[in-house]
Amino acid sequence: MNESVGEKVAEVLSQQVISNISEAGAGVRPALSWDDPYQINADLHCHSTVSDGTLSPEELAARAAAAGVQVWSLTDHDEVGGLARAKAAAHAHGILFIPGVEISVTWAGKTLHIVGLNVKYENSVLEKSLEQVRSGRLERAKEMSRQLEKVGIDGVYEGALKYVGNPNLISRTHFARCLVERKICSDIRDVFARYLTPGKPGYVPHDWASLRESVEWILASDGIPVIAHPGRYDINELQMDELITQFKNLGGIGIEVVTGSHTIDQYTRYARRALVAGLKASRGSDFHGPEESRVNLGELPRLPDGCVPIWDNWAQLQPN
Ligand code: AMP
Ligand code: MN
Ligand code: MN
Ligand code: MN
Repeated sequence: MNESVGEKVAEVLSQQVISNISEAGAGVRPALSWDDPYQINADLHCHSTVSDGTLSPEELAARAAAAGVQVWSLTDHDEVGGLARAKAAAHAHGILFIPGVEISVTWAGKTLHIVGLNVKYENSVLEKSLEQVRSGRLERAKEMSRQLEKVGIDGVYEGALKYVGNPNLISRTHFARCLVERKICSDIRDVFARYLTPGKPGYVPHDWASLRESVEWILASDGIPVIAHPGRYDINELQMDELITQFKNLGGIGIEVVTGSHTIDQYTRYARRALVAGLKASRGSDFHGPEESRVNLGELPRLPDGCVPIWDNWAQLQPN
C-alpha cells in the first residue's frame, strides 16, 4: 500500500468520538450537512426487541436522537419486522432513517454476519428469504436446551422465552439472559464463553444463509451489503483475504471499520483492509441495550482518515 496512505490510516482519531453529547447530558444534534461526511454522526448497526435487543424500535429512535445520531439504521438479526416502526419514530425525531438488517451466514464452517443497508423491506426478495433463515431457530433453541440439561441446567428454553420479543427470533442472547438471571453466570459474555460458543455444552451448530445468498438478497432488495464486525470472526488472515475477495466479487460494497465490537487497533487494521480492497467503511455501535452494551448509540470514534464513509454519497440517496 502507498506509504502515505498507510500513515494516514494509522493516525486513527480514536479520541475524536462524535457523540454530540453536551455537558448537560442532552444530545445536541446539529442539522445534517453532507459537506464533510466524516463529521456526520452515523450509527448504522443496532438491535431492537424484534431481534435480541432490549429496547423497542421507538425507544431506540428516542435514544439515538438524544445521543445526537444524525443518520440511523436498525439492523435486527434476520428480521425486518421492526423497520416500519423504527422509520416512523426516527422521522418523528427528525433523524434520517436507513432501513437495515443483519443476516446470519455460514461461511467456511463459521458464522458470519452480513449487514444490508437501505434495503427495501416490504414485499422484497429479502423479506421472503429471511423467513427461511429464521425457520430453524426454534428447533435449534430446543436442542440447545436439551444439551444444557445434560450438564445439569434445566428448563432454559422456557427461561429464554421470557426474554423473547418476537417468537420467530429466539437467539443465543435470550439464553444468555436467562443464565445470568439464574446467577449461573455473572454476565452475558461469561455465558457465551462458558456455554454458548463452539465446543461449549450449549452450542448447537446451525446452517445459516450462504455468503452468496446474503449478498444477492440485499442487492436484489436495492440495498448495500456490508461485512459486519470483521474483527470478531475466528478466521485467519488468509481466510479474511478470501472472504473479502469473495464478498467483493459477489457485489459487496462495505465493511464495518468502527464498531462497538472492535478494539482501537482493529479500527486501523480494517480501515487499511477497506482501502486496499476498495471497500467503503461503515460505523455502527451494535447496541443491544443499556445494560449490556459497552458502547451507546452514536458514541463511537469517527472513521479513520483515508476511509470512504459508506454514507459519502447519501446526499442523493432515496431512503427505502
Ligand atoms: P444467534 O444469532 O442466536 O447465534 O446469536 C448471536 C448473538 O449473540 C450476537 O448477535 C450477539 O448479540 C450475541 N453474542 C455472540 N457472541 C457473543 C459474546 N461472546 N458475548 C456477548 N454476546 C455475544
Ligand atoms: Mn445480537
Ligand atoms: Mn453481529
Ligand atoms: Mn449486530
